[in-house]
Amino acid sequence: MNRFDVIVVGGGAAGMMAAGTAAGNGLHTLLLEKNDRLGRKLRITGKGRCNIVNNCDVPMVIASIPSNGRFLYGAVSRFTPRDVIAFFENAGVPVKTERGNRVFPQSDLAGDVVDALRNYCTQNGVVIRQATVTELCIQAKTVTGVRCTGGAAFAADNVVVACGGMSYPATGSTGDGYRLAQQAGHTVTELRPSLVSLVANGRDCPALQGLSLKNVAFSVTDTKQKKEIYRDFGEMMFTHYGVTGPMILSASSHMRHMEPNRYRISIDLKPALSAEQLDTRLQRDFTENRNRDFINALGALLPKKLIPVMVEKSGIAPNEKCNQITKEQRRGFVQLLKGLEITIKGFRPIDEAVITSGGVSVKEISPTTMESKLVSGLYFAGEVIDADAYTGGFNLQIAFSTGHLAAQAIAQKMWKADKEGEKP
Ligand SMILES: Cc1cc2nc3c(=O)[nH]c(=O)nc-3n(C[C@H](O)[C@H](O)[C@H](O)COP(=O)(O)OP(=O)(O)OC[C@H]3O[C@@H](n4cnc5c(N)ncnc54)[C@H](O)[C@@H]3O)c2cc1C
Repeated sequence: MNRFDVIVVGGGAAGMMAAGTAAGNGLHTLLLEKNDRLGRKLRITGKGRCNIVNNCDVPMVIASIPSNGRFLYGAVSRFTPRDVIAFFENAGVPVKTERGNRVFPQSDLAGDVVDALRNYCTQNGVVIRQATVTELCIQAKTVTGVRCTGGAAFAADNVVVACGGMSYPATGSTGDGYRLAQQAGHTVTELRPSLVSLVANGRDCPALQGLSLKNVAFSVTDTKQKKEIYRDFGEMMFTHYGVTGPMILSASSHMRHMEPNRYRISIDLKPALSAEQLDTRLQRDFTENRNRDFINALGALLPKKLIPVMVEKSGIAPNEKCNQITKEQRRGFVQLLKGLEITIKGFRPIDEAVITSGGVSVKEISPTTMESKLVSGLYFAGEVIDADAYTGGFNLQIAFSTGHLAAQAIAQKMWKADKEGEKP
């Protein structure tokens, strides 16, 4: 059987970082990846541009990880956003910082990020094999290696499980890491989609399908707790099932207790105008169109597709002449424009989510090493762990920091063991 110091399962962001770092520390390292190429998911990150990291301080990273951020404090402190940026700059990937401190390669090519990580592995001497790991070999609560489809087996005293989550399964993240963890006796917390489009109730979204709104303000209310939980400004789109777009994906990661009708979004279609200013604008429009039907007087105010939906919701008859519309009706319409409400039925399926929320319970992983508390020599890195973040480069930060920490911890453990072995 082939013997290694470390086996890393999964050649994604976390796995390549872990393997390259372990090998850079002089450890004989095997990286097993089920796909014929490394970093498939990385290639599609940031719409092909890869938002590598967020250029902020450690507390800000932790604050951007709503589930189990504190668990990751040690990992992120040891491999910070600055370290990630320095890593890529040193690897020949100059970066730039955009809106919201989002860091991208200057080339805008996610492929450059993958190449840098793959080179980091190959230059440090990582052995890379295409194989699907199906089983962890464990004896007396100690990991001894892995078994793959087709019967191949590899031995090592250390195994890092970096199989990712279960969203976008075509990239190779099909939930294997959770099954391997469970096989080792680990608890896997409930798996849910995060950074995902939202399914809405009612007929409005199908009617508005294809309509994209730019520069709208948006808030989310948790109707159970009766409080606003999120506010944003930007772009969104209506689809046949509900709503999507960058702002919607971000909002979804704040909906931690999804159940039908619990969350309500409210869209301010005219955020640049106060209610009073909007009322004045409507008065002007209605005066100019005094003899026209209400439905025909809104062309300058709203996109064409939105007009029939807004008219229906207003309760004002479409053929009401503008000079017949009362002050109360007009004010009601202002309110509607400042807060078009959509009730959310649920998330789109997990395979469409950017991130899988939930995973290997952090209660069973050491925060200072990423080693399993149940099985000696078993480590976890990346999305497989029960920690997920908002958009902005924070999820890759989790992958890089945990992969790096696991490898460093293994190297230190092995140096210590070597030193102790050398003692007379
Ligand atoms: C469309 C999209 C856009 C995104 N954009 C961003 C972004 O811009 N910035 C950001 O921070 N995050 C982004 N993310 C999230 C980010 O991609 C993940 O957080 C990150 O890739 C997780 O890294 P990982 O190494 O844990 O898992 P992955 O990158 O998923 O890697 C896991 C690897 O393990 C392999 N594998 C799985 N099972 C086995 C097995 N049994 N045997 C061998 N190999 C196996 C898989 O093939 C895969 O290559 C995006 C995600 C998606 C889907």
